[in-house]
Amino acid sequence: MPTPRKAVVTGAAGFLGSHLTDRLLAEGWEVLGLDNLLTGSEANLAHLTTEPRFVLEHHDVSKTIQVLGPVDFVFHFASPASPIDYLELPIQTLKVGSLGTHNSLGLAHAKGAGFLVASTSEVYGDPLEHPQRESYWGNVNPVGPRGVYDEAKRFAEAITMAYHRTHGLDTKIVRIFNTYGPRMRLNDGRVVPAFIGQALRGEPITVFGDGSQTRSFCYVSDLVEGIYRLSQSAHHEPVNIGNPREMTVLEFAQAIQRILGVDQPLIHHPLPVDDPKVRRPDISLARRLLGWEPKVEFEDGIGLTISYFRQFLAINS
Ligand code: UDP
Repeated sequence: MPTPRKAVVTGAAGFLGSHLTDRLLAEGWEVLGLDNLLTGSEANLAHLTTEPRFVLEHHDVSKTIQVLGPVDFVFHFASPASPIDYLELPIQTLKVGSLGTHNSLGLAHAKGAGFLVASTSEVYGDPLEHPQRESYWGNVNPVGPRGVYDEAKRFAEAITMAYHRTHGLDTKIVRIFNTYGPRMRLNDGRVVPAFIGQALRGEPITVFGDGSQTRSFCYVSDLVEGIYRLSQSAHHEPVNIGNPREMTVLEFAQAIQRILGVDQPLIHHPLPVDDPKVRRPDISLARRLLGWEPKVEFEDGIGLTISYFRQFLAINS
Protein backbone atom coordinates (compact mmCIF):
# COMPACT_ATOMS: atom_id res chain seq x y z
CA MET A 1 0.00 0.00 0.00
CA PRO A 2 1.45 3.43 -0.87
CA THR A 3 1.82 5.84 2.07
CA PRO A 4 -1.16 8.20 2.08
CA ARG A 5 -0.40 11.78 1.21
CA LYS A 6 -0.97 14.21 4.04
CA ALA A 7 -2.97 17.42 3.73
CA VAL A 8 -3.50 20.23 6.18
CA VAL A 9 -6.89 21.91 5.81
CA THR A 10 -7.33 25.21 7.65
CA GLY A 11 -10.97 25.93 8.41
CA ALA A 12 -11.74 22.19 8.27
CA ALA A 13 -14.82 22.58 10.49
CA GLY A 14 -16.41 25.09 8.15
CA PHE A 15 -18.92 24.52 5.39
CA LEU A 16 -16.38 24.20 2.56
CA GLY A 17 -13.46 22.95 4.67
CA SER A 18 -15.48 19.98 5.91
CA HIS A 19 -16.65 18.99 2.42
CA LEU A 20 -13.10 19.33 1.11
CA THR A 21 -11.87 17.15 4.00
CA ASP A 22 -14.40 14.46 3.05
CA ARG A 23 -13.18 14.56 -0.53
CA LEU A 24 -9.51 14.30 0.43
CA LEU A 25 -10.24 11.33 2.71
CA ALA A 26 -12.19 9.67 -0.10
CA GLU A 27 -9.13 10.14 -2.34
CA GLY A 28 -6.97 8.32 0.24
CA TRP A 29 -5.31 11.33 1.91
CA GLU A 30 -4.57 11.77 5.59
CA VAL A 31 -5.98 15.08 6.79
CA LEU A 32 -5.02 17.33 9.68
CA GLY A 33 -7.77 19.91 10.15
CA LEU A 34 -7.02 23.20 11.89
CA ASP A 35 -9.90 25.34 13.09
CA ASN A 36 -10.51 27.79 15.94
CA LEU A 37 -14.29 27.15 15.63
CA LEU A 38 -15.05 30.87 15.41
CA THR A 39 -17.58 30.26 12.63
CA GLY A 40 -16.98 26.54 12.00
CA SER A 41 -18.60 23.73 13.95
CA GLU A 42 -17.37 20.33 15.08
CA ALA A 43 -20.81 18.99 14.13
CA ASN A 44 -19.66 19.29 10.49
CA LEU A 45 -16.99 16.67 11.24
CA ALA A 46 -18.97 14.47 13.65
CA HIS A 47 -19.09 11.66 11.07
CA LEU A 48 -15.26 11.48 11.13
CA THR A 49 -14.76 10.81 14.84
CA THR A 50 -13.78 7.19 14.15
CA GLU A 51 -11.79 7.98 10.97
CA PRO A 52 -8.12 7.14 11.72
CA ARG A 53 -6.83 9.28 8.84
CA PHE A 54 -8.39 12.46 10.22
CA VAL A 55 -7.41 14.65 13.16
CA LEU A 56 -8.88 18.03 14.11
CA GLU A 57 -6.77 20.46 16.10
CA HIS A 58 -8.27 23.58 17.62
CA HIS A 59 -5.95 26.30 16.43
CA ASP A 60 -6.21 29.89 15.24
CA VAL A 61 -4.10 29.95 12.07
CA SER A 62 -3.59 33.71 12.44
CA LYS A 63 -1.03 32.53 15.03
CA THR A 64 2.06 30.49 14.11
CA ILE A 65 1.23 27.01 12.87
CA GLN A 66 3.32 24.06 13.97
CA VAL A 67 2.85 20.64 12.43
CA LEU A 68 5.09 17.66 13.12
CA GLY A 69 6.23 15.42 10.27
CA PRO A 70 5.78 15.67 6.53
CA VAL A 71 2.95 17.55 4.83
CA ASP A 72 2.26 17.25 1.10
CA PHE A 73 -0.40 19.90 0.63
CA VAL A 74 -1.88 22.86 2.53
CA PHE A 75 -5.43 24.00 1.75
CA HIS A 76 -6.11 27.39 3.35
CA PHE A 77 -9.87 27.66 3.85
CA ALA A 78 -10.09 29.35 7.26
CA SER A 79 -12.07 32.60 7.25
CA PRO A 80 -15.41 34.02 8.25
CA ALA A 81 -17.16 33.97 4.88
CA SER A 82 -20.69 35.31 5.12
CA PRO A 83 -21.31 39.05 5.02
CA ILE A 84 -22.83 39.17 8.52
CA ASP A 85 -19.94 37.10 9.90
CA TYR A 86 -17.26 39.32 8.51
CA LEU A 87 -19.16 42.45 9.52
CA GLU A 88 -19.23 41.13 13.09
CA LEU A 89 -15.63 39.87 12.98
CA PRO A 90 -13.80 42.44 10.86
CA ILE A 91 -10.41 42.18 12.57
CA GLN A 92 -10.39 38.38 12.72
CA THR A 93 -11.36 38.36 9.01
CA LEU A 94 -8.48 40.65 8.10
CA LYS A 95 -6.08 38.66 10.27
CA VAL A 96 -6.94 35.24 8.91
CA GLY A 97 -6.77 36.49 5.31
CA SER A 98 -3.39 38.14 5.88
CA LEU A 99 -1.53 36.59 8.85
CA GLY A 100 -3.37 33.28 8.43
CA THR A 101 -2.41 33.09 4.76
CA HIS A 102 1.18 34.04 5.60
CA ASN A 103 1.38 31.31 8.26
CA SER A 104 -0.21 28.72 5.95
CA LEU A 105 2.23 29.63 3.18
CA GLY A 106 5.08 29.43 5.69
CA LEU A 107 3.96 25.91 6.63
CA ALA A 108 3.80 24.86 2.97
CA HIS A 109 7.23 26.40 2.35
CA ALA A 110 8.81 24.67 5.36
CA LYS A 111 7.37 21.30 4.34
CA GLY A 112 7.93 21.63 0.57
CA ALA A 113 4.16 21.19 0.20
CA GLY A 114 1.70 22.35 -2.44
CA PHE A 115 -0.64 25.18 -1.45
CA LEU A 116 -4.14 26.23 -2.44
CA VAL A 117 -5.88 29.31 -1.08
CA ALA A 118 -9.64 29.84 -1.05
CA SER A 119 -10.16 33.22 -2.63
CA THR A 120 -13.50 34.64 -3.65
CA SER A 121 -15.59 36.38 -6.28
CA GLU A 122 -15.58 39.28 -3.78
CA VAL A 123 -12.17 40.24 -5.19
CA TYR A 124 -14.20 41.59 -8.14
CA GLY A 125 -16.20 43.81 -5.74
CA ASP A 126 -19.27 45.40 -7.32
CA PRO A 127 -18.11 44.39 -10.79
CA LEU A 128 -18.07 46.66 -13.82
CA GLU A 129 -17.36 43.66 -16.07
CA HIS A 130 -19.99 40.96 -16.48
CA PRO A 131 -19.63 38.01 -16.36
CA GLN A 132 -16.38 38.13 -14.41
CA ARG A 133 -13.25 36.71 -16.01
CA GLU A 134 -10.05 36.08 -14.04
CA SER A 135 -8.37 38.93 -15.94
CA TYR A 136 -10.74 41.51 -14.37
CA TRP A 137 -9.08 43.49 -11.55
CA GLY A 138 -12.28 44.35 -9.76
CA ASN A 139 -14.13 47.29 -8.28
CA VAL A 140 -13.67 47.02 -4.51
CA ASN A 141 -14.33 49.70 -1.89
CA PRO A 142 -11.38 49.15 0.47
CA VAL A 143 -12.91 51.10 3.36
CA GLY A 144 -16.52 49.91 3.07
CA PRO A 145 -17.95 47.24 5.38
CA ARG A 146 -17.14 44.42 2.93
CA GLY A 147 -13.58 45.71 2.46
CA VAL A 148 -12.36 43.64 5.43
CA TYR A 149 -13.12 40.43 3.55
CA ASP A 150 -12.44 41.62 0.00
CA GLU A 151 -9.09 43.22 0.76
CA ALA A 152 -7.98 40.35 3.01
CA LYS A 153 -8.62 37.95 0.14
CA ARG A 154 -6.91 40.26 -2.35
CA PHE A 155 -3.91 40.38 -0.02
CA ALA A 156 -4.07 36.57 0.27
CA GLU A 157 -3.84 36.29 -3.51
CA ALA A 158 -0.95 38.77 -3.63
CA ILE A 159 1.13 37.02 -0.96
CA THR A 160 0.40 33.63 -2.52
CA MET A 161 1.78 34.84 -5.87
CA ALA A 162 4.76 36.36 -4.02
CA TYR A 163 5.59 32.99 -2.43
CA HIS A 164 5.23 31.34 -5.81
CA ARG A 165 7.48 33.86 -7.55
CA THR A 166 10.01 34.29 -4.75
CA HIS A 167 10.25 30.79 -3.29
CA GLY A 168 8.99 28.73 -6.23
CA LEU A 169 6.15 27.37 -4.08
CA ASP A 170 3.61 25.28 -5.99
CA THR A 171 0.59 27.48 -5.29
CA LYS A 172 -2.98 27.64 -6.62
CA ILE A 173 -5.69 30.25 -6.14
CA VAL A 174 -9.38 29.42 -6.46
CA ARG A 175 -11.91 32.24 -6.73
CA ILE A 176 -15.05 30.77 -5.24
CA PHE A 177 -18.44 32.11 -6.30
CA ASN A 178 -21.64 31.74 -4.24
CA THR A 179 -21.82 28.13 -3.09
CA TYR A 180 -24.55 26.37 -1.16
CA GLY A 181 -25.38 22.99 0.31
CA PRO A 182 -25.61 20.98 3.51
CA ARG A 183 -23.58 22.24 6.52
CA MET A 184 -24.16 25.92 5.81
CA ARG A 185 -25.21 27.61 9.04
CA LEU A 186 -28.91 28.34 9.05
CA ASN A 187 -28.27 31.73 10.66
CA ASP A 188 -25.15 32.80 8.76
CA GLY A 189 -27.20 35.46 6.98
CA ARG A 190 -26.49 34.25 3.48
CA VAL A 191 -29.35 34.22 1.10
CA VAL A 192 -29.64 30.44 0.64
CA PRO A 193 -29.97 29.45 4.33
CA ALA A 194 -31.89 32.67 5.06
CA PHE A 195 -34.64 32.05 2.49
CA ILE A 196 -34.88 28.29 3.07
CA GLY A 197 -34.99 28.80 6.86
CA GLN A 198 -37.67 31.48 6.55
CA ALA A 199 -39.73 29.36 4.16
CA LEU A 200 -39.50 26.30 6.44
CA ARG A 201 -40.43 28.30 9.57
CA GLY A 202 -43.32 30.09 7.87
CA GLU A 203 -41.73 33.53 8.20
CA PRO A 204 -41.71 36.33 5.62
CA ILE A 205 -38.85 36.11 3.14
CA THR A 206 -36.45 39.03 3.49
CA VAL A 207 -35.43 40.35 0.08
CA PHE A 208 -32.74 43.02 0.36
CA GLY A 209 -33.29 45.99 -1.95
CA ASP A 210 -35.67 45.42 -4.86
CA GLY A 211 -34.17 41.96 -5.42
CA SER A 212 -32.89 42.80 -8.91
CA GLN A 213 -29.28 42.08 -7.91
CA THR A 214 -28.05 38.78 -9.33
CA ARG A 215 -26.09 35.82 -8.01
CA SER A 216 -25.11 32.45 -9.51
CA PHE A 217 -25.32 29.50 -7.13
CA CYS A 218 -23.02 26.49 -7.23
CA TYR A 219 -23.76 23.25 -5.38
CA VAL A 220 -20.98 22.28 -2.98
CA SER A 221 -20.05 18.93 -4.58
CA ASP A 222 -19.44 20.67 -7.92
CA LEU A 223 -17.29 23.27 -6.20
CA VAL A 224 -15.20 20.68 -4.36
CA GLU A 225 -14.67 18.74 -7.59
CA GLY A 226 -13.31 21.90 -9.26
CA ILE A 227 -11.08 22.69 -6.29
CA TYR A 228 -9.68 19.17 -6.11
CA ARG A 229 -8.88 19.21 -9.82
CA LEU A 230 -7.23 22.63 -9.48
CA SER A 231 -5.10 21.36 -6.59
CA GLN A 232 -3.76 18.62 -8.87
CA SER A 233 -3.06 21.01 -11.76
CA ALA A 234 0.06 23.00 -12.52
CA HIS A 235 -1.75 26.33 -12.88
CA HIS A 236 -0.68 29.15 -10.54
CA GLU A 237 -2.88 32.05 -11.61
CA PRO A 238 -6.39 32.46 -10.13
CA VAL A 239 -9.20 30.25 -11.45
CA ASN A 240 -12.94 30.96 -11.08
CA ILE A 241 -15.00 28.04 -9.81
CA GLY A 242 -18.73 28.58 -9.68
CA ASN A 243 -21.95 27.96 -11.54
CA PRO A 244 -22.75 30.39 -14.35
CA ARG A 245 -26.52 29.96 -13.98
CA GLU A 246 -27.47 33.47 -12.90
CA MET A 247 -30.71 34.65 -11.32
CA THR A 248 -31.97 37.69 -9.49
CA VAL A 249 -32.47 37.47 -5.74
CA LEU A 250 -36.19 37.95 -6.38
CA GLU A 251 -36.21 34.98 -8.78
CA PHE A 252 -34.33 32.98 -6.16
CA ALA A 253 -36.96 33.83 -3.50
CA GLN A 254 -39.74 32.79 -5.87
CA ALA A 255 -37.92 29.55 -6.72
CA ILE A 256 -37.70 28.67 -3.01
CA GLN A 257 -41.42 29.40 -2.58
CA ARG A 258 -42.26 27.25 -5.63
CA ILE A 259 -40.01 24.32 -4.66
CA LEU A 260 -41.33 24.30 -1.06
CA GLY A 261 -44.91 25.07 -2.09
CA VAL A 262 -45.20 28.02 0.32
CA ASP A 263 -46.52 31.52 -0.21
CA GLN A 264 -45.26 33.64 2.66
CA PRO A 265 -44.99 37.33 1.77
CA LEU A 266 -41.73 38.73 0.47
CA ILE A 267 -40.69 41.73 2.54
CA HIS A 268 -38.06 44.19 1.40
CA HIS A 269 -35.18 45.34 3.62
CA PRO A 270 -32.60 47.96 2.62
CA LEU A 271 -29.83 46.74 0.33
CA PRO A 272 -26.61 46.35 2.36
CA VAL A 273 -23.82 48.84 1.60
CA ASP A 274 -21.69 47.84 -1.43
CA ASP A 275 -23.84 44.77 -2.15
CA PRO A 276 -22.69 43.71 -5.66
CA LYS A 277 -25.43 44.29 -8.26
CA VAL A 278 -24.42 41.42 -10.50
CA ARG A 279 -22.29 38.31 -10.16
CA ARG A 280 -21.68 35.46 -12.58
CA PRO A 281 -18.46 33.57 -13.18
CA ASP A 282 -16.93 33.15 -16.59
CA ILE A 283 -15.70 29.56 -16.22
CA SER A 284 -14.01 29.19 -19.64
CA LEU A 285 -10.62 28.84 -17.94
CA ALA A 286 -11.76 26.07 -15.57
CA ARG A 287 -13.43 24.27 -18.49
CA ARG A 288 -10.27 24.44 -20.60
CA LEU A 289 -7.73 23.83 -17.87
CA LEU A 290 -9.49 21.29 -15.66
CA GLY A 291 -12.17 19.86 -17.96
CA TRP A 292 -14.53 20.97 -15.20
CA GLU A 293 -18.03 22.36 -15.21
CA PRO A 294 -20.89 22.13 -12.72
CA LYS A 295 -23.14 19.09 -13.03
CA VAL A 296 -25.77 19.51 -10.28
CA GLU A 297 -29.00 21.16 -11.42
CA PHE A 298 -30.26 24.02 -9.27
CA GLU A 299 -33.50 22.20 -8.31
CA ASP A 300 -31.57 19.07 -7.27
CA GLY A 301 -29.00 20.97 -5.22
CA ILE A 302 -31.68 23.05 -3.52
CA GLY A 303 -33.66 19.86 -2.79
CA LEU A 304 -30.64 18.32 -1.03
CA THR A 305 -30.05 21.53 0.91
CA ILE A 306 -33.69 21.76 1.99
CA SER A 307 -33.54 18.15 3.26
CA TYR A 308 -30.47 19.02 5.32
CA PHE A 309 -32.08 22.11 6.85
CA ARG A 310 -35.34 20.25 7.56
CA GLN A 311 -33.40 17.60 9.46
CA PHE A 312 -31.34 20.25 11.24
CA LEU A 313 -34.48 22.12 12.35
CA ALA A 314 -36.15 18.87 13.48
CA ILE A 315 -33.14 17.98 15.67
CA ASN A 316 -32.54 21.49 17.00
CA SER A 317 -36.08 22.72 17.66
N1 UDP B 1 -29.93 38.74 0.46
C1 UDP B 1 -31.29 38.98 0.61
N2 UDP B 1 -31.90 38.57 1.75
C2 UDP B 1 -31.25 37.93 2.76
C3 UDP B 1 -29.88 37.67 2.61
C4 UDP B 1 -29.24 38.09 1.45
O1 UDP B 1 -31.92 39.55 -0.28
O2 UDP B 1 -31.89 37.59 3.78
C5 UDP B 1 -29.26 39.18 -0.77
C6 UDP B 1 -28.01 40.02 -0.54
O3 UDP B 1 -28.35 41.39 -0.43
C7 UDP B 1 -27.22 39.71 -1.81
C8 UDP B 1 -27.61 38.29 -2.15
O4 UDP B 1 -28.80 38.03 -1.45
O5 UDP B 1 -27.62 40.57 -2.85
C9 UDP B 1 -26.56 37.26 -1.75
O6 UDP B 1 -26.22 37.52 -0.43
P1 UDP B 1 -25.29 36.55 0.42
O7 UDP B 1 -25.21 37.12 1.80
O8 UDP B 1 -25.75 35.16 0.29
O9 UDP B 1 -23.85 36.61 -0.23
P2 UDP B 1 -23.03 37.64 -1.16
O10 UDP B 1 -23.18 37.11 -2.53
O11 UDP B 1 -23.61 39.02 -1.03
O12 UDP B 1 -21.66 37.55 -0.63
